[in-house]
Amino acid sequence: MTHDTAPLLRVENLSKNYLGRRTLGDRIAGTEPLTVRAVNNVSLEIERGEILGLIGESGCGKSTLGRAILRLHEPSAGKVWFGGTDVTALGAEELKALRRRMQIIFQDPYASLNPRRTVAEIVGLPLFLHGLAKTKAEARDIVAQILEKVGLKANQIDRYPHQFSGGQRQRIGIARALVSHPEFIVCDEPVSALDVSIQAQIIQLLMDLKRDMGLTYLFISHDISVIGYLSNRVAVMYLGEIVEMGPVDSVLSRPRHPYTQSLMSAVPEVDEPGRHQRVRLTGDLPSPLNPPSGCKFHTRCPLAIDRCKSEAPKTEMLEPGHQVACHRAHEGVTVLEQA
Ligand code: ADP
Ligand code: MG
Repeated sequence: MTHDTAPLLRVENLSKNYLGRRTLGDRIAGTEPLTVRAVNNVSLEIERGEILGLIGESGCGKSTLGRAILRLHEPSAGKVWFGGTDVTALGAEELKALRRRMQIIFQDPYASLNPRRTVAEIVGLPLFLHGLAKTKAEARDIVAQILEKVGLKANQIDRYPHQFSGGQRQRIGIARALVSHPEFIVCDEPVSALDVSIQAQIIQLLMDLKRDMGLTYLFISHDISVIGYLSNRVAVMYLGEIVEMGPVDSVLSRPRHPYTQSLMSAVPEVDEPGRHQRVRLTGDLPSPLNPPSGCKFHTRCPLAIDRCKSEAPKTEMLEPGHQVACHRAHEGVTVLEQA
């Protein structure tokens, strides 16, 4: 494969297990170590300049996938290629250097900023880490510029996080992620913790910055309308696995996986008027400590047949670039018809 045609990011069979904490009930039930299968065998690619939206219920493994890609959490298995580099094979020093090019914007702009540091220190730190500024004065100049770029004022540089609103704090988090001029950003629910009135401004800022700075995003959200608005392609995650992925129009207007169909049916504005039907997913997301056999969605799937309980579906390409992991996807039945 030549460099020109390679995607910016390629994730191959990535898994991340956590050692689960034992509750009293588990202690009585067994003595085996508990494994939380947070991300299981995920493969995906992101082209340079693209936004891949990642959607799924809370707890399905979205943040874990984002962090495992950046090795903020060490993957348990699989590979991550960034450009021509095998990220999973890098030593500590090389990984540190690569972090200049791969960054993350966190969900919570309160927890993710050190309250005892000024904006100059918070946003300036990556400049010193990566040798992009030699002196404090040089760093202050660069920080002042990026503050303006994210919609803050250069004269706010000596303030502390508590002196800003939630939306402004997220702008500081964005400035910190972008100050080293990275190429790839994991946006981990960057607007979910903000007031609804602020969300659109921050989304617009992220879109403007993407265009101006030539960025590529993995954009994580549990909000389908946000994902539909900004993504080129969408990946749908359920219990640590990607169950459907493809171009945004194809996946959101013709969802082929019953889980995606259920998610879509809960969003009123994307339904055609007059045929609004809600499919209520029964039960909670099963525990990744003890995932269901076969297709992991079978315990909640209105279309499940016997085969789904025993045999995990393979991922199939149903249309160009649109892949689905469901035994019944080719039948064309939908959960709406069943409801
Ligand atoms: P999402 O971002 O989609 O809400 P997460 O990636 O945060 O999901 O979590 C996926 C699963 O992994 C959940 O069951 C969660 O409880 C578990 N998990 C996340 N982080 C840890 C951790 N550090 N230790 C143990 N379990 C974790
Ligand atoms: Mg999360």
